[in-house]
Amino acid sequence: MAKYIFVTGGVTSSLGKGIIAASLAKLLQARGFRVTIQKFDPYINVDPGTLNPYEHGECFVTEDGAETDLDLGHYERFLNTPTSQANNVTTGRIYQTVINKEREGAYLGKTVQVVPHITDEIKRRILLLGKDGKHDIVITELGGTVGDIESLPYIEAVRQLQWELDEQDCLVVHLTLIPYLRAAKELKTKPTQHSVKMMSENGVHPDVIVCRTEEPMYNDLKKKIALFCNVTPDAVIEATDMSTIYEVPLEMLREKLDVICMKKLGIPVEKEPDMTKWRTFLDKLKYPKSKVTIGLIGKYVELQDAYKSILESFIHAGAMNECKVVVQNIHSEFLTHDNVAEKLRNLDGLLVAPGFGHRGIEGKIVAIQYARENNLPFFGICLGMQMAVVEFARNVIGWTDAHSTEMNPETPHAVIGLMEEQKKITVKGGTMRLGAYSCDLIPGSKAAAIYDSTQISERHRHRYEFNGQYLADFEKAGMVPSGRNPESGLVEMVELPDHPFFVGCQFHPELKSTVEAPAPLFVHFIASAKQYAEDKTNKAKIAEEKIAHQ
Ligand code: GLN
Repeated sequence: MAKYIFVTGGVTSSLGKGIIAASLAKLLQARGFRVTIQKFDPYINVDPGTLNPYEHGECFVTEDGAETDLDLGHYERFLNTPTSQANNVTTGRIYQTVINKEREGAYLGKTVQVVPHITDEIKRRILLLGKDGKHDIVITELGGTVGDIESLPYIEAVRQLQWELDEQDCLVVHLTLIPYLRAAKELKTKPTQHSVKMMSENGVHPDVIVCRTEEPMYNDLKKKIALFCNVTPDAVIEATDMSTIYEVPLEMLREKLDVICMKKLGIPVEKEPDMTKWRTFLDKLKYPKSKVTIGLIGKYVELQDAYKSILESFIHAGAMNECKVVVQNIHSEFLTHDNVAEKLRNLDGLLVAPGFGHRGIEGKIVAIQYARENNLPFFGICLGMQMAVVEFARNVIGWTDAHSTEMNPETPHAVIGLMEEQKKITVKGGTMRLGAYSCDLIPGSKAAAIYDSTQISERHRHRYEFNGQYLADFEKAGMVPSGRNPESGLVEMVELPDHPFFVGCQFHPELKSTVEAPAPLFVHFIASAKQYAEDKTNKAKIAEEKIAHQ
């Protein structure tokens, strides 16, 4: 039987519950336990798939094709194990299940209520991953903040589970904020006391309190929190702001968050966790030997969370190359033929991001043309690949009217079009081509060299595809369809053999990049950008020397 750790949040949102949960999971995994993390989100959407990135950041897609919260990305990146549909549940999904059951007649004669029917369904889903025999510890992150109306059924479910399970089989970790009042030069504990009190009023008392703080806490402060919040002094954990999220597991190790949790769960603490690989990664990340600047072209660039997995993949790939990756956000809406050279001049690589809709599209195409013509390393993901295909059709093949039917349904050269099965779909939620699909790579292609394999599997999230009708024209003009789906023949990757790095993929390699296994496409893209930067420096040196000799 698995043990359950619940992670709740108090005082404000955005305290980094996902990172704390993932760090704790990492430490327990490094001690040899089989750990998984799940997140319960208190909103009514059945999943975040239909939410705008401005609302909710990136939508993370799992192997089994679930559209989930971006925290699942952190779980995978930290633990290096895949999550699934079961790891992310929303209030919408809970209600949908209960209402469907009601319609089927499962509750005949009964009034269906929040307690017990909704809370029973929450409990069933919380316990699910602990019942498959694959996990020793299940960490459940409860989204939202204690005190929110919509969080109440979750807190009530945790209360009931604490009563139903053995004392040593579950535990509550509460993450809270200790604000620093600069004028008074003081850290304040009152908001924490209030949030613990509020949770206690609902029948749940935290076993461990993790305190997010900008300034170091004193022992006295820890004691004060322990006393007023009624926990043991070793159960007050300090979580000071770190320069990178990848430092947090080591910070939590120093603070003994794993040890206190194990003690309270009745697990003997025998040895230290093995964090060797993690430390090696962190060293490389903190002490890079070179630097590249990558332009990230998208339409949500002002919002960090919109491209979370891509940014994290750059961190993994940068560490692998011992190279600092500086990401320069470039809004595609403002790129034109007149300013593109100026705006992209200082870049060592260009990534055109995934996206939907026509806003900013022409700017993306202009940027891709610049990268292609100037041998600037280019990496296009999903919409980025689709636009590389459009750009090639327009400027190399000569079909100036070529487009994707997503942007122009009337185009005479629909080089990107809707997949056959997508044409019948009218419902938006969960109906894209989602999750892992296999892909065969052409032996001898750049893609095969990058993956060091000719058979790969990557995750998808899109409706449109390369239009196979034009394949021969593209091949004749020099674009290689280096990756194809073995069953449908769909083109999943394209590349230009005469360019140092011009690769597009229909899938999302960023969704599988982890600290221990960085995505090969990102690693090689950064390596190529590094080479580009070196060549640029050498050329500049030679030019300088020439001038000096004149
Ligand atoms: N809008 C494109 C499609 O639906 C690309 C999607 C994406 O970039 N994730 O096919």
